[in-house]
Amino acid sequence: LMQLSVPLNFIGFIYREVRQGLTDIEQMFDLLDVPQEVQDAPNAKPLVVGKGTIEFRNVSFAYDPARPILKNVSFEVPAGRTVAIVGPSGAGKSTISRLLFRFYDIQGGEILVDGQNIASVEQESLRREIGMVPQDTVLFNDTIAYNIRYGRTDASEEDVRRAAELAQIGPFIERLPDGYRTMVGERGLKLSGGEKQRVAIARTILKAPPILMLDEATSALDTQTEQEIQAALDLVSRGRTTLVIAHRLSTVISADEIIVLKDGEIAERGTHGELLASNGLYASMWQRQREATEAEEKLRIAREAD
Ligand code: ATP
Repeated sequence: LMQLSVPLNFIGFIYREVRQGLTDIEQMFDLLDVPQEVQDAPNAKPLVVGKGTIEFRNVSFAYDPARPILKNVSFEVPAGRTVAIVGPSGAGKSTISRLLFRFYDIQGGEILVDGQNIASVEQESLRREIGMVPQDTVLFNDTIAYNIRYGRTDASEEDVRRAAELAQIGPFIERLPDGYRTMVGERGLKLSGGEKQRVAIARTILKAPPILMLDEATSALDTQTEQEIQAALDLVSRGRTTLVIAHRLSTVISADEIIVLKDGEIAERGTHGELLASNGLYASMWQRQREATEAEEKLRIAREAD
């Protein structure tokens, strides 16, 4: 028995060490706010995207079981169309984009892409078909060209240049002393939020995915930058199935459908015109944002007059 207990103790020791290691990793993931890896189903198949219709069917989700975030949310983004999600802060808008990427599994309902449940396809194939322009793009510590080419590694220099032009960042890059070879990221040239977002748009133009997911920056951009970014976004989203998480209402006017999310539920839906006419939450958000923009504009004119 003595002989046996030593190895058993030893195994117990190893087991505890490994377990502790795993716990530390779990805690690290919590700290970094990185979702824990969702697993592919054992018989997962690659997603096959034709036209790229997205459907959320009675989706319910909570990060923490005690606090539901999305409650029975259903909507469809028809192939090639644009649907915008708006709503107060904390309503669950960005959560919808994370779920489409399957960073988390949902607790109720289904998310379908061209009729295929995303929980039963290979994650890698899902993420390959979706182009994401996030709120805050993190750039690699490498050249601007590398950061753009990441969208499609076999792209030629000419392709990279053209994508940058379309994303309205070309002239900015040309003016830098090292042009496309300029180092960016933590140790390189620091780009503004709007510039980083345009690099992400250029990357997405190169990737040319059938489905596009735009998470607009919350931070205020000046009108000029906002218009440039908007022009670039309009260009990439043309003919692509696009889901926009919108923080600024000016960008949703032309969406085919606007979903107004409140406390994890769809409070209103319709086109810009329809929602204004129904005089509800969207109309009051619109009114408030217009007043804010007008106030800013007056302030700017007054400052310029000084
Ligand atoms: P905003 O307009 O301010 O960006 P939002 O509508 O995009 O807000 P979400 O980011 O989807 O809101 O968050 C919805 C709710 O989920 C918030 O109350 C938030 O605190 C919570 N939440 C978000 N991420 C996590 C997470 N990783 N773990 C736990 N709760 C989270």
